[in-house]
Order: sequence, then structure tokens, then C-alpha cells
Amino acid sequence: MSQILVLASDNAGKLREFDSLLAPLGFLVKPQKEFAIPAAEEPFGTFLENALAKARHAARLSGHAALADDSGICVPALGGAPGVHSARYAGEPKSDAANNRKLCQALQGHTERRAYYYCVLVFVRHADDPQPLVADGVWHGEIVDIARGEGGFGYDPYFWLPELGCSVAELDAARKNQLSHRGQAMRALAARLQDA
Ligand code: IMP
Repeated sequence: MSQILVLASDNAGKLREFDSLLAPLGFLVKPQKEFAIPAAEEPFGTFLENALAKARHAARLSGHAALADDSGICVPALGGAPGVHSARYAGEPKSDAANNRKLCQALQGHTERRAYYYCVLVFVRHADDPQPLVADGVWHGEIVDIARGEGGFGYDPYFWLPELGCSVAELDAARKNQLSHRGQAMRALAARLQDA
């Protein structure tokens, strides 16, 4: 019998990816909207705290185990910004184009262009689980001023991979998944769940 796992997101792409990873481990992955759960607040300064808050919120309101993710891009030369504010770095309404413009402007004149994508996943067996399972992934690159490629989303056209000589937006989806912060975190989570 499968165990219901509530995903603290309503993103159809994420639901598909988590379902294909976790169904073989005996989980039936359902989006939180099936339980009429509204999106949780994400008021914290770290990805981990926000993911934990989202997972606990989904578990509390559904009565099931829950999984949440939080991700973003960090630029050390900017003190880690955009960080947890990646989705709305340039404010409302949420816009990838405006975020990328702001990031390129913030880095004008900087020679230190290193950046990394980060993703953390938090699994709770129930809302008050004292020992959540945590898995994360980091993907290093550099921010460039000229967009390249049509794939991916968000900051991908400006996220340059020096060792591959291309931007993330120039990778196909399968290759991105092999390398990405999210792919790494998902495989690490699957291993943790298998051991649990
Ligand atoms: P979320 O955790 O899926 O809400 O992602 C937060 C934000 O981080 C996104 O809206 C993007 O701006 C950025 N981000 C996270 N992962 C990626 C990625 O793989 N490519 C590009 N941008 C990303």
C-alpha cells in the first residue's frame, strides 16, 4: 500500500518530477491543493527554515507526511543575494526578466561573478516530526551579462557553466536534471528515504 505524501507546492512540473522519483519508493505524491491547503508564509532568511515551515504547514493541514522544497540563486559578491528572495528579487509582480536585469546591474563593474544555485528538500513524517529528513544540492557557475539559450527558466540564460562552456538555458531538460541543484537534492532525498 502506498503512503500519501503531500507536496507543499502546486507546481505541476515539480509534482511530476517528485512523483516519478518517489512512486517507486511506495509514496503517492499529492499536491497540497488537493487538500485545499493555501501556500505557507516564507518569512525566514534561510532556504532551510522556509522549506521546513512549508513542510510542517502541509503536514499539519493534511494530516499526512509532507515534502517541501526551497531553492534560489546566491551570489557571494552580493552577500548571498538574491538568496531566499530569488523569485521576487526585483519585486512584484514576479518577473524573470526584471530579476535578471537587476542581477546584471548589481554586478556591473564586478570581476568576481561566481554564483551558485541551491535547493533544499525537507520531508516530515507528521507536523511535529522531531527529526525531519533534509537533503540539498548546490550547482556552481558564474553570472554573465549576455543571455544565452532558450531552455530552463529564471536565471538560467545568465548562469554560465565554465567547465561546459554554455549557459544552463542551453542544456536540455534531462542534462539539467542530471547536474542541477534540484536533481542532486532529489537523488539525495530518495537515498535518505530508502535508508529511513
Ligand atoms: P522555487 O523554490 O521553485 O520557488 O524557486 C525560487 C526561485 O529561484 C525561482 O523563482 C527562480 O528565480 C530561482 N531558481 C530556482 N531554481 C532555479 C533554476 O533551476 N533555474 C533558474 N532559476 C532558479
